[in-house]
Amino acid sequence: MIDGVQLLADGGQHAERLPYTPYPWERFDLLAMPPSSPYGGMENPRLTFLTPTLLAGDRSLVNVVAHELAHSWTGNLVSNASAEHFWLNEGFTVFAERRIVAALDGEEVNALQVAIGRRDLDRDLEHFRDRPDLTRLRTHLAGIDPDEAFSRVPYEKGYLFLRTLEEAVGRARFSAALRRYIDAFRFQTLTSEDFVAWLARELPEAVAKVDVAAWIDGPGIPPGAPEPRSARLDAIALLDGSLPDEATARAWTPTEWMLYLESLPRPSSPATCAALDERFQLTASGNYEVLVAWLVVAAESGHAPSLPRIEEVLAAVGQMKYLKPLYSALAKAPPSRALARQCFARCRAGYHPIAQQVIDAVLKQHGA
Ligand SMILES: [Zn+2]
Repeated sequence: MIDGVQLLADGGQHAERLPYTPYPWERFDLLAMPPSSPYGGMENPRLTFLTPTLLAGDRSLVNVVAHELAHSWTGNLVSNASAEHFWLNEGFTVFAERRIVAALDGEEVNALQVAIGRRDLDRDLEHFRDRPDLTRLRTHLAGIDPDEAFSRVPYEKGYLFLRTLEEAVGRARFSAALRRYIDAFRFQTLTSEDFVAWLARELPEAVAKVDVAAWIDGPGIPPGAPEPRSARLDAIALLDGSLPDEATARAWTPTEWMLYLESLPRPSSPATCAALDERFQLTASGNYEVLVAWLVVAAESGHAPSLPRIEEVLAAVGQMKYLKPLYSALAKAPPSRALARQCFARCRAGYHPIAQQVIDAVLKQHGA
């Protein structure tokens, strides 16, 4: 847990320098969970639970620790009144997480993570295209299973909304307002309506410039949302799915690898898959974010040499973030559909009940 401890030393200071009041819980401990843990992290006050896949050995997943640390203020100190206002926990926490990452690793690295977040959000908006009500920040969940409604919307749309407010009034004024927000609501729960009333009182000029109702009660992303900008992002887009030269790719961070791999066409040609794996040993990557992004391309492209590694990963991890895309990639392609079924039959008992339910649904969706 050296990375996590280091982040606590650095990130703790940054968190206190950033939008928030001093750390309110005295201790901040991290516990590595068993591999079957279905989530990346869980923000219990004073003792955050983390998945062991975070120990990538390259410090690239500190954003998850920054996220759980930021929950010490938004989520644990100021809490949403119910799952219908979940964005109050997660949108604020992603906002603070990215401030910490920008302070630790710079704005370029942060922009890449914002880009990954936007891509996840767009994917979920597409997934819910027939359920636009679930793409509001303030949801109405009577009769709806919150696990079914779960998506990146409260995280990433919430983040974009807060960035929009920040851009409307400037960083200094917004940070000062956030501190007052934490102070005013500490150890209380609040609703989206409470937040809107607070915003109208504290930052009326933001309310004058931003269509708050469209963000909170409207579906999708209102026009004018902030876009991530970075030269490194542009360089990946310019490749347009072609093979990178070796010097360029060797200098990539794991986030750049993810963005590149996800930009590849499906299916990619056998020659492209073989060349990528031979040059960059992606199947042997110790970073699960990169590994899973690669294995999904490989599975969707029918790249048979990667299948044994996919089976290993499905047996070794229980995190839904990795299980879902891998099972879905296998089940989507008719030649590997039976393998998806077999792997699930073999590994099912080792998964958390929530993950079992989610994978059941994924396989059913693809007729596996
Ligand atoms: Zn969170």
